Amino acid sequence: MSDDSGKRDGAGRVVALCGGVGGAKLALGLQANLGVRLTVIVNMADDFNHLGLHISPDLDTVLYTLSGLNDTARGWGRAGETWNFMAALQQVGGDTWFQLGDRDLALHVERTRRRALGETPTTIAADIAKRLGVTARILPATDADLRTMVTTPEGELEFQRYFVARRCEPTVKRIHFEGRENAMATDDVRQALAADDLELIVICPSNPYLSIDPILAVRGIADGLRAARAPVVAVSPIIGGEAVKGPTRKIMDELGLAPTNAEIVAHYRGLIDGLVIDRADGAEAASLGTEVCVAATLMTDLPSKIRLAEQVLAFGRRIRGARAGETIAVASGDGA
Ligand code: GDP
Repeated sequence: MSDDSGKRDGAGRVVALCGGVGGAKLALGLQANLGVRLTVIVNMADDFNHLGLHISPDLDTVLYTLSGLNDTARGWGRAGETWNFMAALQQVGGDTWFQLGDRDLALHVERTRRRALGETPTTIAADIAKRLGVTARILPATDADLRTMVTTPEGELEFQRYFVARRCEPTVKRIHFEGRENAMATDDVRQALAADDLELIVICPSNPYLSIDPILAVRGIADGLRAARAPVVAVSPIIGGEAVKGPTRKIMDELGLAPTNAEIVAHYRGLIDGLVIDRADGAEAASLGTEVCVAATLMTDLPSKIRLAEQVLAFGRRIRGARAGETIAVASGDGA
């Protein structure tokens, strides 16, 4: 399409699909490059009710990371956190398997209050993001109740029971998403994916099975990716046959999947136009059957997040440029 060439200047919008910690690292790098031109669509299927509170772990990780409030050493929650509430809760015999810091607690209390008044997760997230100073637009994938359930030899476990209480120890036999029949993409998510000035969609290096699949399970999102004129690229969460952290590798083993970039390409087949892989895996580039960008994908500090984001954006420009070139070639008869 001829109008694609005009977007090569990189002034358009970018949408990122993101889970929690791993994905938020790239989202932070993208925000540093794009500011308000970035929209982050966040997994909501990790949500759960605990101590009467509505908790959205991935959304809060994204909010804390993009506002610079996160604890980078611990890897989750807020920096400078105190734990008086947990200590007092333990004293009175309360349920302490899920850690809630004192500052973090304020967000859960406020979200729960606003949800009880009938406000949507989308409205609440937008308002809190603004108050915390997040420049990117943050969109929950859905306002409906969607829940990741993990089938294990111990039976069906809610995601947080599996992930936190059982520390991912039980073997995963199956992962499914309760409530997916009624989980629709919000109007905001649909419009973000259909925007005329959208120049790239990025699937962050989140866990494909536990963080990205529950976004894609929301009705309208996978179709939105397929229909988008902008290219879709994923950043592989696998480096040298291992996951950087978390249970991705263990889950792939348990589901009978090889922990390889080829498997990531197969998983996202039909949705992505390209994959960003690590330099350590550069030799695989020619065999993956998709466009490939080889980069340093391990994000250890802010500069490495910003640099990877720059390369992801350049990869998107390269794919758009190639498409525009093909269109021009076909139009001028060269492509026959
Ligand atoms: P979430 O799925 O986004 O909630 O985040 P996790 O922290 O559970 O990590 C998910 C995946 O991200 C794991 O499979 C990791 O291998 C991957 N990951 C985490 N950090 C990095 C990184 O710096 N680079 C790459 N390429 N992958 C990462």
